Amino acid sequence: MTAPETRAVIAALTAEGATVRFVGGCVRDALLERPVTDVDIATHDEPEKVIALLEAAAIRVVPTGIAHGTVTAVVGKAHFEITTLRLDVETFGRRARVAFTNDWALDAARRDFTINALFCSPDGELFDPFGGIEDLRARRVRFVGQAEDRIREDVLRLLRFFRFYAHYGRPPPDGAALAACRELAHLLPTLSGERVAGEVLRLMAAPDPAPVLALMADEGVLADILPEAGTIARLGGLVALERELGQAKVDAGGALRRLAAALQVDAPGAEELAARLRLSNVEKARLAALAAPAKPVTVTGDDKTRRRELYGLGPELYRDLVMLQWAARRGEVGELARDEVAAYRGLVEAADAWEPVQLPVKGRDAVALGVPKGPRVGELLQEVERWWIERDFRPGRAECLAKLEKLAARGG
Ligand code: ATP
Ligand code: MG
Repeated sequence: MTAPETRAVIAALTAEGATVRFVGGCVRDALLERPVTDVDIATHDEPEKVIALLEAAAIRVVPTGIAHGTVTAVVGKAHFEITTLRLDVETFGRRARVAFTNDWALDAARRDFTINALFCSPDGELFDPFGGIEDLRARRVRFVGQAEDRIREDVLRLLRFFRFYAHYGRPPPDGAALAACRELAHLLPTLSGERVAGEVLRLMAAPDPAPVLALMADEGVLADILPEAGTIARLGGLVALERELGQAKVDAGGALRRLAAALQVDAPGAEELAARLRLSNVEKARLAALAAPAKPVTVTGDDKTRRRELYGLGPELYRDLVMLQWAARRGEVGELARDEVAAYRGLVEAADAWEPVQLPVKGRDAVALGVPKGPRVGELLQEVERWWIERDFRPGRAECLAKLEKLAARGG
């Protein structure tokens, strides 16, 4: 709230006397002293007015969702989503005009959970119509209003419940919410793959998603959206491992790795899941490579084997596969022998220390040797590469060129 970027946006929005509030996640996370990434602000002004006010203050405006009454203000690296409070006059029946101060209560009532229905004025006054602060303190994730009604209005909230429970909750989960989720799980297939994926991956980024995923499975919530989640224990093992290795912070790649840990699929199964969740081609390939690897990483091999596998997979994929294999192994045998642990650690360290190497010859070298442009160039390079890997990446450019020349000559 005190950041100059925030002050600038607030000053612009209130320049002509409008009342604005910080809303939702930023208030919640500020109260918890967690880092605030995006700031949502609510105002009574219409989007056109908001744009005019921001432009008058020379603040960059991106019309992200004018149709939903949202514009984004960009100051430096900070983004502010500014939403116009909607007046659903029809829901008020004959009461044609909604009193000004009631708008906030109305807006709060549309939000999903009490901890997400917090408002804060620019000078720090909190507005908490549903006891969200108390719930936040007790780590209770509770619906605003009747859970069943709220899920029927928007089925995504069913998944949001588990996501927010994983990030903000403490056992036991709210009984009414859980009962409604169980009851209405059959509505989940009406959600688009993108929306399901968004929630599932955000859930995976929670400190420990495994118990929540297990809870979802028990409640019958997973059967329709993620029936592939057959190895939740392995996910638990992976999370424990990440903690031991001091890498509990999870980025997008980490969320995908965690999802892969929970999946019991072959490669076509992983691809089918990725297609259903509308993942990008890059994510799809990564998920399949992680959930259904072509072959296991060699744990007790020599340095040369390790370098060959690292080169083939790339350090990120290699590292992720080592972690998954390690987690699975712990799931199988419980505690690992000390030398096995050391071996796995060695592989992770090797991935972290890996200096990329590049085949010292290129396609144009083959062409310069008289090989006609076409598939033959790629075949020759692959042959040289195999030879080069077999020699532990030692041959330099001169040797590789000589090898290429020899192969090219032999091939005619
Ligand atoms: P995050 O840090 O994950 O972004 P957030 O609280 O900002 O958390 P968003 O999904 O960005 O979550 O939503 C912003 C706010 O909008 C929420 O805090 C909530 O008040 C409201 N909201 C979002 N989606 C819904 C929904 N499906 N139903 C009701 N309210 C919602
Ligand atoms: Mg948000």
